[in-house]
Amino acid sequence: MDTLKKTFVLKGTAVSPGMVIGKAYLFDRLDAQISYYKLDDPLLIIKEIKRLRTALLESEKQLLEVKKKLSHLKVTEPLYIIDVQIMILKDRRLQSRTIRYIRKMGVNAEWAVRMTVDKYREIFDKIEDEYLKGRFSDIRNVGQMILRNLGGERRQVISDIGEGVIIISSDLSPADTAQMKIEKVRGFATDIGGKTSHTAIVARSLEIPAVVGLESITRRVRTSDTLIIDGSAGLVIVNPDPEMIRRYEDKKRHFEEAKAISLKDAALPAVTRDDYHVSIGGNIEFIEEIPSAITHGADGIGLYRTEFIYINREHLPTEEDHFANYKRVVETEKLAWSTIRTFDLGGDKFLSDPKLAKEMNPQMGLRAIRFCLKEVELFKIQLRAMIRASAFGRIRILFPMISGIEEIREAKRILFEVRNDLLAQGVAFNDHIEIGVMIEVPSAVVIADKLAREVDFFSIGTNDLIQYALAIDRVNERVTYLYEPLHPAVLRLIRHVVKTGHRAGIRVAMCGEMAGEPAYTMILLGLELDELSMNPLAIPRVKEIIRGSTMKESRALLKKVMTFSSAVEIREYVEQTMRERFPEEFQINEQ
Ligand code: PEP
Ligand code: MG
Repeated sequence: MDTLKKTFVLKGTAVSPGMVIGKAYLFDRLDAQISYYKLDDPLLIIKEIKRLRTALLESEKQLLEVKKKLSHLKVTEPLYIIDVQIMILKDRRLQSRTIRYIRKMGVNAEWAVRMTVDKYREIFDKIEDEYLKGRFSDIRNVGQMILRNLGGERRQVISDIGEGVIIISSDLSPADTAQMKIEKVRGFATDIGGKTSHTAIVARSLEIPAVVGLESITRRVRTSDTLIIDGSAGLVIVNPDPEMIRRYEDKKRHFEEAKAISLKDAALPAVTRDDYHVSIGGNIEFIEEIPSAITHGADGIGLYRTEFIYINREHLPTEEDHFANYKRVVETEKLAWSTIRTFDLGGDKFLSDPKLAKEMNPQMGLRAIRFCLKEVELFKIQLRAMIRASAFGRIRILFPMISGIEEIREAKRILFEVRNDLLAQGVAFNDHIEIGVMIEVPSAVVIADKLAREVDFFSIGTNDLIQYALAIDRVNERVTYLYEPLHPAVLRLIRHVVKTGHRAGIRVAMCGEMAGEPAYTMILLGLELDELSMNPLAIPRVKEIIRGSTMKESRALLKKVMTFSSAVEIREYVEQTMRERFPEEFQINEQ
């Protein structure tokens, strides 16, 4: 990972689900310079037409070879596409039009092919049906194949690379993919294409994550750049920071687990066998993840990490940029509520902004609410957009990294100032927005009783809470062995927060990664959390465990482990219990 390179995100069309983290490989065969010259001798023209015919035959031969090579595949889609390409290649009109250009205009074969392809482009551009329109790529690919054969150029073959790569290209034809050593390809990302483009079909049939229609990825990414491909959300994250990589490693793992179990029960409520109901939220970083949250069974969005709106921009986001994102979340019908967190910039998150000067110890530096209270104008832009979005659905505002009462009071004061401005301006909004604080700094746990009087809900951020409570940098791989959610100190902190919140009559959620770990689900039930919010892909398994458990046994499990004094003992006991209770879910040795 190169922390000096700028992180940015490209959004395209999600066409083949799954996540992959790897190195980019620029597959750059398209749009090579096409030569143009005039043929003023009839003999030359005859020779040129012959050259074209040879290229057509050669192209057909190659496609038939590719088809033979692919015939062992169980999936048949790539074969159909090749058949279509052979039909196009043999199409009389395509051939006669190209020959006519050579003959009438006296241009070389390459130029004539290009004119023919351009003519078809013009026709296809007028088609309204998206599917048919997308089929132009077949013609384009055939055109490129002929061009290649006219030049006698050798195809670029991905054979000399030792590790798995993510292929970046303008577009890919089945012939391209067939010639790649597909076992070395871990993902695809292309400039053009849609759900029915070849890259999409081939990627889906081979179960390789892919995002297409990214417009400019071939210009913005270099071979060997580190990439995350999120083929479920349609995102490509270029030069991700360590925290994003960690997050995506989790997502990838959860995706694979979710794939292994059926999604058919994902929408069932998370109710224990003795009728305790837990609200389930999805954590999202981008609005593109909303559909995945819904299909995986989220009741609402429990954490929208809005700092991701700030990356990938030359300029800071405007109020309208924020508003468009928040409106989209809150008006999604299938989501009962949306918890939108004010931006948590700073720390290890996106240091490229000049306002966020590099700090010696960024995790404890000017991040999240501290940064917002210093850059009040920036903060107000976001708050205005959040309040305006409340007119479109149930929104909860969540403040991160609160460490003392002054911070929440000041944040609320600014929020009300913004509210009053909007009221004076006659802007519509809902005046009953719930306000919450993230409990992720140990001092917030200790003064939870005081904080509870200021807000409507708590959301426990275990990622940071564990880091600060156990003094373990969450992105430092050298101390990850000490990062232990089942540490007795962590469990006591959580228990204290839940009890204090409930005593004050407010709801207590958990939105750190711990909430999405099925091995901890019974412990979290025992702790009596009201809401668990997690990476959407983790939801089905957690819900399944909740539905298979009772509060009685979960409370008993918690009571038992609270008598232990070490994390090792607790972990062993919890894992053993989970294996016995859910033998199919927890294989031997599973973490
Ligand atoms: C947390 O700290 O647990 C949390 C949910 O916030 P983030 O991971 O964005 O810091
Ligand atoms: Mg946090």
